[in-house]
Amino acid sequence: MKNKRNGNILFYSLIGYVLIAGVWWTYLLYIKNQDAYQARRDLLWLEMQREELVDTQSAFFESKAYQLLESQYGQQSWMILGEGSVLFLVLIVGIWVVVNSRQRELAVAEQQQNFLLSITHELKSPIASIKLVLQTLNRRRLSEQQTQKFTHNALTDTERLYSLVQDMLLAARLEDGHSYTFEPTNLQLLAEECINRVAAKFEGVIQLKVESNQEELIAEVEVSTFSSVISNLLENAIKYAPESPLIELRIRRQKEEVVLEVADRGYGIPKNQRQKIFQKFYRIGSENTRKTKGTGLGLYIVQKVVQAHKGGVQVLENQPQGSIFKVHIPRKH
Ligand code: ADP
Repeated sequence: MKNKRNGNILFYSLIGYVLIAGVWWTYLLYIKNQDAYQARRDLLWLEMQREELVDTQSAFFESKAYQLLESQYGQQSWMILGEGSVLFLVLIVGIWVVVNSRQRELAVAEQQQNFLLSITHELKSPIASIKLVLQTLNRRRLSEQQTQKFTHNALTDTERLYSLVQDMLLAARLEDGHSYTFEPTNLQLLAEECINRVAAKFEGVIQLKVESNQEELIAEVEVSTFSSVISNLLENAIKYAPESPLIELRIRRQKEEVVLEVADRGYGIPKNQRQKIFQKFYRIGSENTRKTKGTGLGLYIVQKVVQAHKGGVQVLENQPQGSIFKVHIPRKH
């Protein structure tokens, strides 16, 4: 943190120095040119007087030699001011480019740092608890009931690790130019499968209300990746609404599109964060997010997959509180 502040101070001081130096050298050149002109003019005046070419100042000002000197001075002054302004503009544009890319780099570095911290935690804690369960099972004789409880906990942790690794692999694959295989799929059935999977993971935590306006909602999707979209949205709705477990999943057909909405009554997402949350590794820097497990990969995957299906995803406000994630994709790819 201190290093970063020192780096910033040094960086902006250097920029300030370069700008001030640019203005200062232009000014100095301008003044020196003026001094040189005045010296040459005085010399010319003395020489012309000595050679008796002029006798009054007004005759001197009208002389060809003076006019030539004057026009050379004017040209040089404009040249210095013009070059100075161009240099200043180039400096400003250059600084703007450097500041922008530096800020982007800092943001990426911070996100990667966040990712590393959360991934370390996300990997370490389930592994530690699985290890503990296995050690306990190995060393002690437990009752049937206790064994069941311990193995159940270990299975939940394994499931958590598995889905984390799945997300990481999927994100890497999507970046590598994943080639999609679209097939006509009943989205209602696919959503139900995702609900069952998520409900098993967050056992007893959610109440899901599924609404659909059609019997058969067929759309061309890639089953494996589109399941990740639905599961990620459902899991987020659960994670970021711990006090209001009612989650609604709505699917409907709208002309040539299928619209899927996941609505929760949780913390909600501030307007200025609604684009950023789709960036890779981005997590809202609030207390609520910090308390919740995650890597910032879920919504990145959601957006990438939905875009590959030629659709879009939006975040809306739920009433009286919470968020709605609205995904729309064309029925035919
Ligand atoms: P993760 O959940 O692993 O942090 P995501 O990419 O799924 O990563 O989400 C990015 C961030 O967006 C989360 O850290 C959270 O702050 C915010 N977010 C996502 N879904 C919701 C939601 N339903 N309600 C409130 N905040 C959310």
